Amino acid sequence: MAAQLKLEVVTPDRMVVSEMVDEVTVPGLDGELGILPEHTYLMSMLQTGVLSYRTQSSRSQLAVSGGYVEVQPDRVIVLAEVAERPDEIDIERARKARDEALQEVSKSDSELNLATAQGRLQRALNRLHVARRGTD
Ligand code: ATP
Repeated sequence: MAAQLKLEVVTPDRMVVSEMVDEVTVPGLDGELGILPEHTYLMSMLQTGVLSYRTQSSRSQLAVSGGYVEVQPDRVIVLAEVAERPDEIDIERARKARDEALQEVSKSDSELNLATAQGRLQRALNRLHVARRGTD
């Protein structure tokens, strides 16, 4: 039995994580998806949320949004639209985006505008959540 998983998190810009880990949790479309070695094959879309992973000596988190995850027994591949480590998150930018998105939500005059504003709001709140929690 594979003792660990190879976790790869990739965005259109860069490779964010490429590491052997013990466990991964991703925000799947139907809720949190916990993945241990020897998990069955699976594909799921991602929603905006926290991707967390751990080794024996560390726990880490990323703010992710969009894209999908592919699970194999010894590998987890995440192709995300955005993925940021806590120390990469610009808190001021996220606060500004949150405040602007709240205004956009209250002023939106169509379902499309509302959905766009809600998506932006979710990303901003998720960034603030992950930046606050850091790596603990
Ligand atoms: P904003 O309204 O501030 O542009 P957004 O949610 O619309 O935020 P995204 O489309 O999710 O932005 O991301 C665009 C790019 O900007 C991505 O590369 C993402 O990692 C980066 N980014 C967005 N907000 C932040 C932030 N607060 N800190 C660090 N990187 C960010």
